[in-house]
Amino acid sequence: MAMTMNDRKKLIVGNWKMNGSLAANQDLLQAIRAGIADLDAAACTVALAVPAPYLAQVQALVAGSALALAAQDLSPHEAGAYTGEVSAAMLKDFGVRYALVGHSERRQYHGETDALVAKKVQRALAAGLTPIVCLGETLPEREAGQTEAVVRRQLAAVIQLNGHCISEVVLAYEPVWAIGTGRTASARQAQAVHAVLRAQLGAASSHAGRIRLLYGGSMNAANAAPLLAQPDIDGGLVGGAALKAPDFLQIIAAACADGGPAMESGVNRQ
Ligand code: PEP
Repeated sequence: MAMTMNDRKKLIVGNWKMNGSLAANQDLLQAIRAGIADLDAAACTVALAVPAPYLAQVQALVAGSALALAAQDLSPHEAGAYTGEVSAAMLKDFGVRYALVGHSERRQYHGETDALVAKKVQRALAAGLTPIVCLGETLPEREAGQTEAVVRRQLAAVIQLNGHCISEVVLAYEPVWAIGTGRTASARQAQAVHAVLRAQLGAASSHAGRIRLLYGGSMNAANAAPLLAQPDIDGGLVGGAALKAPDFLQIIAAACADGGPAMESGVNRQ
C-alpha cells in the first residue's frame, strides 16, 4: 500500500550543543524521563544529541526509556590516525542511533563543506547510524532570494554521493538566522522550504515520501505546534529549549499529539 505523508512518525531531537555536566545531565534526564513516562512511543520518537564525553552517562540514563541517543557529529574516516575525531563505530558502541551531520555551527566554525558533509553521511550510513543532515541558508542568502538555491545545493551534494541510500537519512532544515536567535521561521516559510526539499528528494528516490524532514531554529513550547502541523514538517531539531525540561516536554507533547500512525516495522528503521 502506498505510504501517505501521515505515515511519517514525528521525530524530536534535542541538541545539547556544548552544554552539560555530569550533575546537570542527571537532573535534566530525570525530569525528562518523568515527563515522558506516559509517552506513546508509537506516536513519535525522541532523541538526545549529547556531547561525546557524556555518551556513556546518557546511554545509562536513557536505558529502559523511550529516549534514543544521538551524536552531534562524526568523523568522515573509518579509523586510524585522526586525533580528536570520533568514529561512527565508536558511536555505535554506545548505542547511538542518530548523528547530526553538517550542523550550521560545524559548517560555520569548522569549515565543513557540502562535500565533507556528504562524506560523513556516507560514513554514518555504512555504520548503520541514521544521519540527520542539517541544511539552511544564512540571513544574507535569504535576503538575496537564494534560500532555495542554497538548500538545493546542500542536499544535492548528499544525494550525489549517497544515491538511493538517501531514503535512509533524516533532513533538518535550519535557517541559520533562526538558530539560537529567538527568531523563528514562520510555519509558512518553513513549509515552503520543506516542500522544495521533498520535491528534490522525490526526484532522487522513489521512497522520498518516507524521509523525515525536521525544522530547527528557535523552536519552543509556543511555536512548536503550528510548525509541526505543516504537511512536510515531520519533527523538530531543538537547541536551547532542549536544555529546559518543561519546554522540551511541551514540544514533545505537541509532536506526539500530532504524531499519526507508527511506521510498519521494517518499513523504516529510523
Ligand atoms: C540547533 O542547535 O540545531 C538549534 C535549532 O538551536 P536553537 O533551537 O537554540 O535555535
